[in-house]
Amino acid sequence: MAPVRKEYELLPMNAHFAPSEAEIDAAFDRCEFAVVYQPQVELRTDRIIGAEALVRWNHPARGLLGPDYFLESVFQHGLARRLSTWVLTQACRDALAWNDIRVAVNLSPSQFADPGLAAHILPIARMSGLPLNRLEVEIVETALFDDTDEARKRIEELRTAGVSIALDDFGTGYSNLNRLQHMPFDKIKIDKAFIDGLPEMRSVAILQAIVALVRALGMKALAEGVETPDQRRIVTATGCHYMQGFLFAKPMSAQELTALLKSRA
Ligand code: C2E
Ligand code: MG
Ligand code: MG
Repeated sequence: MAPVRKEYELLPMNAHFAPSEAEIDAAFDRCEFAVVYQPQVELRTDRIIGAEALVRWNHPARGLLGPDYFLESVFQHGLARRLSTWVLTQACRDALAWNDIRVAVNLSPSQFADPGLAAHILPIARMSGLPLNRLEVEIVETALFDDTDEARKRIEELRTAGVSIALDDFGTGYSNLNRLQHMPFDKIKIDKAFIDGLPEMRSVAILQAIVALVRALGMKALAEGVETPDQRRIVTATGCHYMQGFLFAKPMSAQELTALLKSRA
């Protein structure tokens, strides 16, 4: 099937922007935040198996802003939980229209550090009516603190309820293989940096090794940021399970994803 390219153009990162707490507050009140979704595709079948929820700020003066513009300010003002609650609520609601695919939401490191993580997330998801086995949370390596037992407990609490766990941007943080050995992840998202290097021999070698490791641990591998048919071909040859990237589709609105899923059914 031909790749789907949906444009959801963001303003380029060209201006310094450090919104105040009051500005972010006002953005909530005026409903300026939005969630877009980027499909995840099974390489073997070309089937859409999930979508990652990515936050946007529809700024009245600056246009559509990506998270790189404002996420840090949101965190600095202690508003990570408020934003994530909003994104999670929205994502669960939107996902109700998508039959059986999973929706993945990103967790900030401060959220993962919160012992009440599951008690916060699970009721929101349950209230939305979305079966918990259709929810995935993404954690970055840097959020995995040194206390392996505690981190594993937090992950297990979510997994026991049916939520699946993805390790985001793998290979760019402190890729601690010992931790990988002890953490029950469902999916490892291999960072775009490794895909960018293809088809260079060394990049191919590293990718092959990561995918082999992920498979040997019984987890699923997803390649992030696949942009060219050549990259897709190599990623597929390594035995990687899934991909996510502009080659297949850019992030799109919930309505666009609903239409896309219908057109492929
Ligand atoms: P991420 O979780 O690794 O998300 C993937 C990012 O890569 C997204 O950028 C996506 O648009 C971009 N991307 C996907 N495929 C391609 C490709 O083929 N080429 C290129 N050049 N880029 C691609 P985005 O939406 O700007 O998000 C950046 C980061 O912001 C995310 O990285 C995630 O860490 C964070 N983020 C986004 N939404 C949320 C949220 O709701 N909560 C939290 N805590 N973090 C979020
Ligand atoms: Mg992510
Ligand atoms: Mg990522």
